Amino acid sequence: MGTVNVKVLERHQKTFWEKSYIPEISRGLGVTVKQFFKNLSPNKEKRDTFTIQYPEAGTDHYAERFRGQHRLMKREDGQVRCVACMCCSTICPANCIHIEAAEHDDPSIEKYPKVFVIDELRCIVCGLCVEACPCDAIRMDTGTHMAPRTDRTTAFHQRDDLLKKGGISIATRAGQKALASKSS
Ligand code: SF4
Ligand code: SF4
Repeated sequence: MGTVNVKVLERHQKTFWEKSYIPEISRGLGVTVKQFFKNLSPNKEKRDTFTIQYPEAGTDHYAERFRGQHRLMKREDGQVRCVACMCCSTICPANCIHIEAAEHDDPSIEKYPKVFVIDELRCIVCGLCVEACPCDAIRMDTGTHMAPRTDRTTAFHQRDDLLKKGGISIATRAGQKALASKSS
């Protein structure tokens, strides 16, 4: 049997101050206190905070695909694009879209939504309604997030309010390339 070379390492013996942890705790607290006062600075540029007081406050830096509040798009003549097909309300997992269809005077359109209400408090912002819509009639690209509210009735967004946020869409159906205008 060969001999085994064992290297004996000398253990680092902690000093009294190291064992007490007082210097390290003080150093850590120093960093915390420094950041605390830095982030209280009235000059926002000097702060290191990257959080926002959501949902009370918003931000200008929404991602391009951010799903904000809904809007209903219009035809070129200003009429609502929605044809009350119920695809969005059927797919909505929160069951928060209520549509009442009515017959359109134009037989090529057939139906339009006499009533179109979204309960934004129940909405889970999944975007499935937008995906399901065959007419580019509903979008969530407003860049506006839902503000907190104390009155529940203000969460019901009616058709005409949704239309006010919407712009003209000239998207074409049947899988053709959508040429849709975007309005804020
Ligand atoms: S985003 Fe989702 S939950 Fe909200 S209305 Fe559309 S389908 Fe319903
Ligand atoms: S918004 Fe689109 S999916 Fe929903 S009812 Fe109107 S046309 Fe159909």
